[in-house]
This record gives sequence, C-alpha cells and structure tokens, in this order.
Amino acid sequence: MNETTSTTGNTDMLRDLAGRVSGPVHAPGTRAYDETRTGMQLLDRHRPDAVVEAAGSQDVCAAVAWASERGLRVSAQLTGHGLGAGLEGGLLVATRRLDGVRVDPGRSTAWVEAGATWRTVAEAAAEHGLAPLSGSSPEVGAVSYTLGGGVGLLARRYGFAADHVRRVDLVTADGRLRQITKDSDPDLFWAVRGGGAGAFGVVTGMEIDLFPVPRIYGGSLYLDMTADPGALEAWRRWTETVPEELTSGVSVLVYPDMEGVPEPMRGRQVAQVSVAWSGPSEEGAKVVEPLRSAAPVLADTLRELPYGESGAVFDEHHDQAGFRGRNVLVDRLDGEALAELARLTGTAPFFCAVWLRHLGGALAREPRVANAVGHRGAAYALTVLTFADDEDAGDTGAMRDLREEAAALFGPHAVGRSFTLGFGPMDEAGVREVFDGPDRARLARVKAEYDPRAVFHSNRPIPPGGW
Ligand SMILES: Cc1cc2nc3c(=O)[nH]c(=O)nc-3n(C[C@H](O)[C@H](O)[C@H](O)COP(=O)(O)OP(=O)(O)OC[C@H]3O[C@@H](n4cnc5c(N)ncnc54)[C@H](O)[C@@H]3O)c2cc1C
Repeated sequence: MNETTSTTGNTDMLRDLAGRVSGPVHAPGTRAYDETRTGMQLLDRHRPDAVVEAAGSQDVCAAVAWASERGLRVSAQLTGHGLGAGLEGGLLVATRRLDGVRVDPGRSTAWVEAGATWRTVAEAAAEHGLAPLSGSSPEVGAVSYTLGGGVGLLARRYGFAADHVRRVDLVTADGRLRQITKDSDPDLFWAVRGGGAGAFGVVTGMEIDLFPVPRIYGGSLYLDMTADPGALEAWRRWTETVPEELTSGVSVLVYPDMEGVPEPMRGRQVAQVSVAWSGPSEEGAKVVEPLRSAAPVLADTLRELPYGESGAVFDEHHDQAGFRGRNVLVDRLDGEALAELARLTGTAPFFCAVWLRHLGGALAREPRVANAVGHRGAAYALTVLTFADDEDAGDTGAMRDLREEAAALFGPHAVGRSFTLGFGPMDEAGVREVFDGPDRARLARVKAEYDPRAVFHSNRPIPPGGW
C-alpha cells in the first residue's frame, strides 16, 4: 500500500484507493491536500473527497476506475491557472509528478506529459533549436493550454497549439488508457483538440509539433495611456499592417501609486504592448518601430532573445491571485469601444485589467486535421479581468457587472468566446459560445459516447445531452 495522508473523512475508502495506486493519496485537512488542490487561481478551489498524485498513467487509470465505480466525479489539475468551478466531493487527479518531456529532433516533435509546464517544454526544445507553440506564461500547463486551443507567441504564424497535436493519451471514464490519433478515434481526436480534454477524460501525455524558431525579437513597450489615451487605437491600427510573423497583445492596467512599483508607472494607466517577431531578426525592430510613437514610452524590454527565454516577452506575474475574466472574440475592434473600455476599467474602484490579443493569420486557416477550435474568423480576443484578494473576499456583483459591461461594448462585433482565454468558470451557456454552431452537436455526441454518466468535471463543461 502507498502513502496516505488523512486526518478526517472516509479512511477505509481512501485506504482502498491508496492500495490501487503508487502515488500518494491526500485527504481533506492535511497540508498535502491543500497544497495539491491550490494553484495560481485562489477562487473556486476544488474541495474533493481525496486528491491522488498520479505517479504514472497506470495510476490515472486505477484512480478513474475507482472513482467511476463509486459514482464519484473526477477532475484533473496541474497549475490551477485555468481553474473553473471547483469539484465538490469526488476525486482530484493531480498531475504534477508526470512532468516528463522527450524531444525527437529528427521529427521535430515532443512527447509532453500532463504535468509539464511550457517552461520545461520550451527549454527542452531549445536545446535542438526548436520551439513549441507556447503562450504568454511559461508557468501554464502545456497539455490543458494546447487542448483548449492555445493562442501563443507564434500563433499568427503557425496557428493554434491544438492544430499541431499528433497523438493524445487519454484515460476515459471506463478507466481505459486510449492512445488517440486521427485514425484510431477520429471523433474523440477531433473533440479533444479545441474542446479541451477535461470533459472527456484525463490526459496523461500528448505528442506535439515543434517549430524551427531558435530566436525571436520580442518584449514589451509600456505606453502611457494617462498621457495619451489613444495608445490602444494606435496599436489596433498598427496590427492591420503587420505580417504573420508578428503576434502581439496588450495588457492595460492602472498601476498602484506605491513603493515597489517602478517610478514611471506609479498611478498611471499603462498599455503594455507585448510582441513576438519570428521573422528575420534584423527586420523585427523595424516592424515594431511605428508603435514607439503610439504614446510616451515608459519602459522598453524589446530585444532579440532565445525562444527558451520567451516568458520575458509578456513578463507576467506568477503570484497566486483570485481572478475572474470575461472574454469576447470579435471580428473587428471598434475605436470608440476601445476608448470607453479604457475609461471604464481605468476608473473602476477595484483592481482590474484588460487583455487584448491580435489573432488572424494562420489562426484563421483550417489545420491539416480538422479540430473543434471555434471562431477561426475572429480578429481579436478581449478579456476583462477583475481581481479579488482571496477566496473569502470573492467576486462581487460590481466586478461581474463591470466585466459584462465591458464585453457588451464590443457586442456588435462579437463572434463568440475563447476556450483558454476565458479565465475562471464558464457555465454550459458560456461554453456553448466557444464553439461554432454545427460543432456543438458533434461535441455533445462525443461526450455522450465516452462519458455518458458525466464522470468528468471540467472547467469548460460539455453537456452530454447537448445545448
Ligand atoms: C497568467 C496566465 C497566462 C495565460 N496565457 C495564455 C496564453 O497566452 N494563451 C492561451 O491560450 N491561454 C493562456 N492562458 C490560459 C491557459 O491556457 C488555461 O488556463 C489552461 O487551462 C491552464 O492549464 P493548466 O494546466 O496550467 O491549469 P489547471 O488549472 O491546472 O487546469 C485547467 C483545467 O484543465 C483541465 N485539465 C488540466 N489538466 C488536465 C489533464 N491532464 N487532463 C484533462 N484535463 C485537464 C481541467 O479541467 C482543469 O480545470 C493563461 C492563463 C493564465 C492564468
């Protein structure tokens, strides 16, 4: 029998589970339980009957079968960056011990286990002059990001991360490990790439493509919107001129006027324009040049850098936080709506931020093997984030209203929502907006076939009965 940490609850039940797996099992009330169920997101944490830290695929199979037999619900977690509504009871499979990455430089692919973050994958790939389609934060889990779509630093050049998956190893509700490819299980393979894996099973690993991008020109320009509120509109106009080798995004926030915050930013509304250029290195600075006159530049981190260090482009904070986001995908950005968005979020009585991502390019093209990613025609993604200090402070009505008001500004050009850029819980109605109309019924059919009793509790629920 294996290690069990237990102070309360059904000890016999947990002992039975511990007898079936080789990784540790944690019960409520223990430190290990709290540590494994807690990640970056402090709101909506899972409160399962037990956490199992899977030590291998066999553990995942045994744990899912165990929970299934008892009618318990199952969810998986790595970093907690994408936590939605948490489990109440049931079993949480923590994947952090499954963190292997194997690069095959001959085929330009990597086998990525469920517990690997983008940092590990990018560093392993960089040893061979290759890059994965990772996103703004290297601390995000590669598997969940990829299977939810994944909009990364090279997105406009190569498309969604989900477009470049060759195989997925998935444990389904019957406790079976399936090696899913386009030939073995075409419907399930289609569904998990873009529909996320959480609703269909627990992924233990996946094979992804890597790309010959050893270096990029990238970083951020911090533009003073207090001095020039037109910075967002200038960015929007500039995005209409850039080639597909350039992917960019903007984060807008009012920096607190306090010590610890860099002097030039204090108390100011700042647009952090982050860019990644993967074309010829000598051209990068030229392509970015026009942005420098969009507004006064408060700080500039642009430089040529190895892809393995690409976390420096957005330079995101990794501190735990309680946050909720409302995302909207649009086919065009309206200048007046952008100005109103800056005013609304710049005067909010609580901490909030706006994320904008430029889409298009390869994201708009169908991949070689079709998948469930929706709204390829979207030109921009917009997310409004509000922050609560912790679980107890919670999300307030005023925060919810602000997020909805901000999203409504872009209503006339809205085409749907993003799976991964949604941030926080999304109910079934919200998830419906992630997918194109005809794909919804197909996703529900796949859910009904592989998880008819809805054993899996996902951060993006797909109803077996359809919408
Ligand atoms: C700071 C930050 C930056 C981000 N940047 C980007 C970005 O640039 N582009 C982008 O597209 N997205 C981005 N995201 C969103 C991110 O891709 C998703 O939140 C993703 O789901 C996080 O995966 P995780 O494993 O790290 O998080 P977790 O919270 O551990 O997992 C999220 C959900 O995925 C499911 N899941 C996790 N592991 C498994 C598994 N092994 N099998 C089945 N289901 C599983 C579960 O439903 C779980 O609730 C960002 C998020 C944050 C907070």
